[in-house]
Amino acid sequence: MRKQGSGIVYLVGGGPGDPGLITIRGLECLKQADVVVHDRLVNRFLLRFAPSAEWIDVGKQPNHHPVPQGQINDLLVEKALEGKVVVRLKGGDPFVFGRGGEEAEALAEHRLPFEIVPGITSAIAAPAYAGIPITHRGQSCSAVIITGHRADNCNDDPTENWRRAAQGADTLVYLMGVLNLPQIVQQAIEAGREPGTPAAIIQRGSTPAQKTIVGTLETIVELADGIRPPAIIIIGEVIKNREKIRWFDLPQNRPLLGLKVLNTRPIFDIGEQDSNSSFGLDEFSHLLITKGAEPIELPVYRLSPACFPEQFPPNSRGLPSGNSALPFDWIFFTHPAAVFALLESLIQAGCDVRMLTGVKLAAVGEHTKKALLQKGLIADFVFSSTNLEEVTEASTHFQGSRILLPEYNSSSRLMSGLTAPGIDIIPIPLYHAHPMELDEDLISELKPGKIDVAAFFSPEDFVATMDLLNHRDLANILPAVTIACADNGTVQFVEKAGFKPEIIAESADVNAMVEAICRWREH
Ligand code: SAH
Repeated sequence: MRKQGSGIVYLVGGGPGDPGLITIRGLECLKQADVVVHDRLVNRFLLRFAPSAEWIDVGKQPNHHPVPQGQINDLLVEKALEGKVVVRLKGGDPFVFGRGGEEAEALAEHRLPFEIVPGITSAIAAPAYAGIPITHRGQSCSAVIITGHRADNCNDDPTENWRRAAQGADTLVYLMGVLNLPQIVQQAIEAGREPGTPAAIIQRGSTPAQKTIVGTLETIVELADGIRPPAIIIIGEVIKNREKIRWFDLPQNRPLLGLKVLNTRPIFDIGEQDSNSSFGLDEFSHLLITKGAEPIELPVYRLSPACFPEQFPPNSRGLPSGNSALPFDWIFFTHPAAVFALLESLIQAGCDVRMLTGVKLAAVGEHTKKALLQKGLIADFVFSSTNLEEVTEASTHFQGSRILLPEYNSSSRLMSGLTAPGIDIIPIPLYHAHPMELDEDLISELKPGKIDVAAFFSPEDFVATMDLLNHRDLANILPAVTIACADNGTVQFVEKAGFKPEIIAESADVNAMVEAICRWREH
């Protein structure tokens, strides 16, 4: 256990790429971190778990060379001496060609506390995601993990190392070997492996960009032309199992495999709005990943709660006595964030859900309805979107009502549709929108041709995205992408800007958007 006030370093394996493959222990460490020192291969989504930590990328410097190992060791020592909780986050496992041993040694020399959190190494995960078990009864009773890189070799002569390994185990897994593939294959043959032995190369295993090439020792060099690191090479009979148990990269399982989708949904600093999605990811990103797509997150702004309690009608402050709840007939929630922000505001004002007694609740979209349910509230009315015709049609339902409208960007469209007589809408600003900054890694993703689809959930998201891209001279990516819109309101704005949306969701929620993208991809 860590002594109060002293620093500690957790050497954490972040897994091979799929953010779901980090361990629970690894996540616990990330959540406590003051500083995260990370490699290139670590998934960006893991950033979500330590948003206020200092993130230091030692995978590259401005001149594109990695930070030398000695400097990384010094950095860990320095931060731990400052009393910080440091996570050294590495791709795969920290002790499998991760130089975690050297870092632990440096910490031990300084008598600094550290813990090792093993991770799932790409050496087993990339084959697993390609449908290749590294051992298999009757085919392989041993597997060896070897470096395919000269500098890391224990022997002076790496070819000697490869030959010995090829003689010593049934399955051979090479890391960092892409550039030496011809020599690796040659040594395996010289060590006595038949030229017809199956060989495969798996690039960016367990990610939406996974690419698997299967051949034999004779053919793999030619077939793997164009494969770039990170990739593992695997040699052995076990590769044949892929024919039967391939799963991750089957088009019927992941219809959006390899598709890069720009997700412009704002980030909410409010409540647990994404608790339905796995590991804290944005719900849309999470759904895209389950379908095989790669979300590129460009959250156009960050929403944080505004000072709602001050806007509360003075007579409704404090807990209601009897039935004197909020002086409204309806509350319209246009987004899950509105649900969480309103309830948080009630708590801040010293009251709770009992204030909603007698008030009816309307939700826009299934995800808002679900957010209400999570809080133990059942929506009395659900709009499938803020589509003007639909809202106008529903308008008579609310005739003569006094409606509280916690404001979000789609609120104005909702208001303009509510045309029935006697409707009194009281909008309250529930959150502030803060514009987002673009980091350099993200900018490098925003080049023409690098994004396939850009998804917009509201006109405001579209306009804010355009502003952000124009501001950074990046708007040239849009003519080359397929634009997806959540509703007709958004379509109108996109068309006004001179683009033609090719994908239109049937309703304004994330599931409908993903379904629409899948339908478009099928054709
Ligand atoms: N500690 C890491 C390995 C670091 S060495 C681990 O346990 O996985 C870097 C090498 O790992 C890369 O050159 C590549 O061979 C392999 N690698 C890492 N991530 C990979 C991935 N997602 N798919 C295929 N190979 C990967």
